[in-house]
Amino acid sequence: MIISVASGKGGTGKTMVSTSLAASIKNNYNVQLLDADVEEPNSHIFLKPVFETSHAVSINVPVVNEDRCNHCGKCAEVCAFNAIAVVKDFVLTFPELCHGCGACSYLCPRRAINEAPNQIGTVETGKAGSISFVQGKLDIGQTMPTPVVRKVKELTSREHISIIDASPGTSCPVIAAIKDSDFCLLVTEPTPFGLNDLKLAVETVKQMGIPCGLILNRAGVGDSRVEEYCQKENIPILLTIPLDLNIARLYSKGTTLAEGLPQWQENFKEVFRKIREITGERNSST
Ligand code: SF4
Ligand code: SF4
Repeated sequence: MIISVASGKGGTGKTMVSTSLAASIKNNYNVQLLDADVEEPNSHIFLKPVFETSHAVSINVPVVNEDRCNHCGKCAEVCAFNAIAVVKDFVLTFPELCHGCGACSYLCPRRAINEAPNQIGTVETGKAGSISFVQGKLDIGQTMPTPVVRKVKELTSREHISIIDASPGTSCPVIAAIKDSDFCLLVTEPTPFGLNDLKLAVETVKQMGIPCGLILNRAGVGDSRVEEYCQKENIPILLTIPLDLNIARLYSKGTTLAEGLPQWQENFKEVFRKIREITGERNSST
């Protein structure tokens, strides 16, 4: 079973939720945590894994053979990302903008473009106790998170309960992270911003045909409009986490609720039970 954890906006406590869920059910199931928030992977702070492997993630970028090139400009014309430009009698490439689509080399009439791998990030694997841990990390200065997210997703195990910590928002890396999930757990807070971004996230998962439920974090900080919206849209609120100084302290120290306040383990187990009920999953993955 694959459960993705997403939020319309950053700072809602999404990583605290995904790691707390993993830590709460790890004694009953084989659990895998995949941190697909590759621009800011923070799950490792909460679960403290020991990493065992690290692999580079690369995309192919163009390398121009100036001896063959006649500076016709075709490559710059076809590139939708302005990652290649022809200036007078010289071709400039911008690997950090390149999406590795291969269109320029395919369409170059002089076969003057070869491709070479350009590292954009890494995928690391390890163990956090009994939890299998996968983390993607985009290299500093790189702007292409989605290929790194896809590499993280390739390691999703159907033998486990896989929990995917997606990036905040609703852009391409989020779509790549939550795609193929059996359920999407949305985390938000009861503020106008939280509601606005929740609506975008709900629209996204609905269009993708993924069932979703909500965890309302920092309850008490705002008003009841998120709850009213969920009722209207028939979105189950699976857990409410109050605005609480003890919880905020745990968060700032990078401690899961399951570890710092063990009574919360039962709440997260109940969230998992409800998810299985909603998805109709009957067989336990052990
Ligand atoms: S399309 Fe090929 S030949 Fe034309 S400018 Fe680009 S690299 Fe040179
Ligand atoms: S591979 Fe695609 S994105 Fe990269 S420079 Fe060529 S056309 Fe542009």
